[in-house]
Amino acid sequence: MSKIQVALGIAVLLAVVILTTSIPNLYLIALAVGFSFFLFAMAMLIKPQFFVKYVLKTTENNVLLSFDDGPDPVNTPLVLDILKKHKVTAMFFLIGEKVKGNEALIQRMHAEGHLLGSHSYSHDPMIGLWSRKKTTLDIGDGHDALQIIIPEAGNWYRPPFGVTNPNIAFALQKCGLHAVGWTVRSYDTVKKDPEKLLESLKRKIKGSDIVLLHDTQAYTVSIVESLIVELKRKKMTLKAELN
Ligand SMILES: [Zn+2]
Repeated sequence: MSKIQVALGIAVLLAVVILTTSIPNLYLIALAVGFSFFLFAMAMLIKPQFFVKYVLKTTENNVLLSFDDGPDPVNTPLVLDILKKHKVTAMFFLIGEKVKGNEALIQRMHAEGHLLGSHSYSHDPMIGLWSRKKTTLDIGDGHDALQIIIPEAGNWYRPPFGVTNPNIAFALQKCGLHAVGWTVRSYDTVKKDPEKLLESLKRKIKGSDIVLLHDTQAYTVSIVESLIVELKRKKMTLKAELN
């Protein structure tokens, strides 16, 4: 029995007990609320791998820089230039609806040895609340948008916002996709100070880490070169490899 089946079984059992108990039972209500929080935490956290199994490592002594939410016609080429200059490869998770018009940029990513994965079609913040059918369509369309440009891209998927649930798990299985997580989250979409961002990354990153960044904003681009130089100084390799 899978974890999802166990969780759903407990939820149904709790609902039945609560609905069939004539006297309001605060303990049961508290248990139901606690269980809901637990499921919410499991939907948002990557490390427990509760709903979905993730790839969570690159090879030893290597660091995989991963960039989400592109391709971005302004910032992605700048990131690619830096990676090329330092002979470094990375991984890019592309939003399906941004593919159109950026085909040459995606072909450049692939030609320069970077790994590519999909990041849903719409990157809708409500994806975690969608029906199974709608979720599967969006994830499938995102993957197809990439496959049309690069058929040999592989079957990698990164969930927007790191959200997973039984519908997303179903969609991944249906589309034959494997989820790739991260071990270091840069929070570069909220940390707007490049210096602080760079310092925190230098402190946190160690060998075999997968680092989550976004190639959609200038201040992330502004720290990529310094980060690469620092990681190389620490004798780490930076290759697009998953373990
Ligand atoms: Zn994203």
